[in-house]
Parts: sequence; C-alpha cells; structure tokens
Amino acid sequence: MAVLSEVKKNYGKMKNYVNGEWVDSNSSKLLDMENPATTDVIGQVPLSTRDETNAAIEAASDAWWAWRETSPVSRARLMFNLKAIMEREFENIARIISQEQGKTIDDARGETRRCIENVEVASGITSLQMGYNLEDGAAANIDEEVIISPLGVFAAVCPFNFPGMVPFWFWPYAVATGNTYIIKPSEQVPMTSQYIFKLIDEAGFPPGVVNLVNGREDAVNPLFEHPAVKGVSFVGSTPVAKWIYKMGGQHGKRVQAQGGAKNSLVVMPDAILDKTVNNMLASFYGCAGQRCLAGSNLIGVGDIAEPLLKKLLDASQKIKVGYGLDESSNMGPVISGAAKKKVLGYIDKGVEEGAKLLLDGRNIKVPGYEKGHFIGPTVFKDVSPDMTIAKEEIFGPVVSFMAMDSLDDAIEFIHTSPFGNAASIYTQNGKWARDFRYRVQCGNIGINVGVVAAMAYFPFAGYKDSFFGDLHGQGKDAVAFFTDRKVVITRWF
Ligand code: NAD
Repeated sequence: MAVLSEVKKNYGKMKNYVNGEWVDSNSSKLLDMENPATTDVIGQVPLSTRDETNAAIEAASDAWWAWRETSPVSRARLMFNLKAIMEREFENIARIISQEQGKTIDDARGETRRCIENVEVASGITSLQMGYNLEDGAAANIDEEVIISPLGVFAAVCPFNFPGMVPFWFWPYAVATGNTYIIKPSEQVPMTSQYIFKLIDEAGFPPGVVNLVNGREDAVNPLFEHPAVKGVSFVGSTPVAKWIYKMGGQHGKRVQAQGGAKNSLVVMPDAILDKTVNNMLASFYGCAGQRCLAGSNLIGVGDIAEPLLKKLLDASQKIKVGYGLDESSNMGPVISGAAKKKVLGYIDKGVEEGAKLLLDGRNIKVPGYEKGHFIGPTVFKDVSPDMTIAKEEIFGPVVSFMAMDSLDDAIEFIHTSPFGNAASIYTQNGKWARDFRYRVQCGNIGINVGVVAAMAYFPFAGYKDSFFGDLHGQGKDAVAFFTDRKVVITRWF
C-alpha cells in the first residue's frame, strides 16, 4: 500500500483570520509545529495576544446584526456552498489532519466526514430554528408565540486530538442560527483550521462572521472578559474544562465544557468473542488511544476473561504501527514527545504497582520513522481497581485488563470513576444490556459498540467530570445553546 504525499511539507507561519482578512500575529511567542511521526518542523504557530483576540471579538460583534438580519435560508445556502467545497477538498483535509495530528488516514477521513455531516445538519436550520405559537394562547384574541433568536458572539476553544471535527460540533450551528463566531484551535494542531478557513472564506461568509485566532491562555482569557461574547464551547482536559466553566460563571457567559475520560469496556460471558475483539480494537488503538471515547479499561466478566485476554493480545500484536499517511498503518504516533513521556510514565507506574505487562509498547521502533513519537499497543493484566492505570486518563494505546465476577461488580467499578464519558457492554443478553444502559452514569453507552461517537444530528457530551454544562454539542442541543427563546404575546385592539 502507498505512503500518501503530504499536501505540503511546510506550511510556514500560521495566520489569524479576522473580519474576512488573513492577519499576521504580532506576538513574539512562536511555537514550532511538528509532524509527530517524522518530528519534522512543518510550520510555526503564534501565541496571539489579548489585543488580537479582542480585535476578533470586535469584528464578530460588528458583523453580528447584519448577519442576524440575513434570512436563515440565505445562511443555510452558505453552508451548502461550504459542504460542496469541503467535498472537493476532502482528501486534502484528511491528509493535513493525518500529517499534523498523527492519526491514520482512514481515521482522518472519518473525522473529515463528521465535519461535513455537521455542516449538513446545520444546513437544515430553516427547520431547526423554527419557533412555535398558539392562537388565543394567552386568552381569547390574545396570541402567544416563541421566537428562537441568536444572541451575538460565541467562541470555541479546541483540543489537539480532533483538529477538524471538534470546531464543527459547534460553529456551524452558531453561525447558521445567526450568531458570529471565533475559533481558537489547539496550538498543537493549528494547520487543519488554517486550511478549513480558506474554504470558509471561499464559501462566501461575510467578513467577521467566522474568525480564527491562534494561541493559548492570552488568546482565551478575553473571551470571558469581553462583554460582547455570549458563550464559550470548550473541549479538552478536565482541569482546564473546570477552569473554563468557572470563568464562564464569573463573567456571566454560557459555557459547555467537555473534559477528559476513562472509559470501560465490559465483556459478558455470552459475548461473541471474534466480533467483540475486532470491534474493540478501534476503541483501544484508534488515534493511538487519544480519543475521549477511547476504551481504556477492559473488564472480562466470568469465564470469558481468559479467552478474551488471549484474543485481545493476539489481535493487539498484529496492529501495524506506522506513519498515518502510510495506508498500511493501523495506528500512528501520539501527538508529541511530552505526550509520549506521560504515557510511558503511566506504563512504568502500572509495572511498579504490580500489574502484569503482557504486551509492552514502550520500545517500539518504526523503520524509517525512528524519531517519531510512537508507542506500540500495550496490554496489562491483573490490574486492580485501585491502581493508577485503572483510574486515570492515560490517553495512549494502553489496555488495563481486569477480571470480575459479575455485571454488578463491573458497574460498581465504573461508578468509582470521577469521569462519565463513555462505557460499553458486549453481550447477546438483552436484560444485561438493558441493565447496563439503565444504570451506568455515562453520557455515551455502547452495546456491542466500542466507540460511541454520536452522529452529527445527535447530541454529544459526557457526565460527571467529563462535562460541565447542560446543553451538549451537535444537533438540536447546539441550536439551543446558541439561541434563546423570546416570548411574544400579541393583542390587537
Ligand atoms: P487541553 O486541556 O490541554 O487543551 C485544550 C485547549 O485548551 C487547547 O486549545 C489549549 O490551548 C487550551 N488551554 C490549555 N490550557 C489553557 C489555559 N490555562 N488557559 C486557556 N486555555 C488553555 O487538552 P488537550 O491536551 O488539547 O486535549 C486532550 C484532552 O481533551 C483529553 O483529556 C481528552 O479526553 C479531552 N477531550 C475530550 C473530549 C470530549 O468530548 N469530552 C473530546 C476530545 C478531547
């Protein structure tokens, strides 16, 4: 199979996109962007200043009223334009995601598809944003109606693991409903947004409607301090999600803040082993384990534990680790040297705390990519619920295997976690599946499904420390987050 070419080897210095113009940041702080498989420098990203974010907020605020007065059908047509352009650019977007994030090209194509699906759903805004009314609703001859109105400027602060998809959980809905927007991509993967903004520009959105600001803390803080910003969507680690939620509360902003995860996959004694193991590989090793929906703990219940572990081990040994743009790779590198160090630290900790390392991915060498941040599939057995590797988010391709006696034990263990993003059960028994769905306190439940990724027309978020807020990303929840309900009571004398 072929190693696909990069769209470009080097993308230069990232720019901000404000008020319909590409602008250079004046910041003296510049970070190198690295291809995590080759460690080649592929560009630089500026850490924009507070003034630069404030300029984007002002531009979005100035553009708001005219955009709000643009009819929903006209706003939707721009979404149709963007969809067509993104279909044309599909392969380039996927290759850039793979090059800067490290995931395999197939994973990156799946991510690109989900970006487009969110644009498709937002294109239906003429139906999604309709209000409702009741003739004589207040009293005879007095009608009452609800109008679903946009609010102003919104923004998203995004993580490194889905440089394409995460902004699309939010901005198409915000903009289609008549708000204006600012995207702050992860400073580790700014290139995908840079490329997509060229397509947004081509689609013909008016200046100021969608803006891009690169950076970190200084680029984020003004989003809370500026009165024009009505709300912030965040996706990233739990400590930052908590901080964002607190800042939103302090400054009176709407916030939806998605945090970290520690997901368990539970295999019941009647599960169909081949299909189960095949299905869960994508959960453990997709995106090198760097997904908020990644399986991390594997729980075998009863007699199935030993054969399950054996099959998983066999299958894990066959995962081909390599460059994401090499079509024969099943798993790419983790995002950076720092991320690799952190994951290796967790593996060391697992050994130290007494878990048995059956498959050790620490010293993997990928021919031709010796400097890359690769970690091979790693499988621990004899993990106990109090071990660090059973409790904390590792965010790497590491499986912590536990044998348990019953479904009750497995559910009780899942509930010891502060996180509540996703959990899956593998079984043919409807009663067990129903119990699991009913009792488990997670936002995303899989039944014989290991990656519980909601389609664009369904809401997406977790429970507990995996999410702070109420309205989720995507679909109708996103429409509700970006709008308010205005009640009008009308009497004509
Ligand atoms: P992160 O929290 O380090 O960074 C996320 C974003 O916050 C980035 O844009 C970063 O620049 C910004 N940021 C970081 N520190 C900041 C600060 N002090 N002030 C202002 N902004 C700051 O997360 P990450 O490492 O990019 O992403 C991985 C994490 O994201 C994992 O924990 C993963 O589980 C989580 N995640 C969750 C979901 C979900 O839907 N729940 C989805 C994807 C990723």
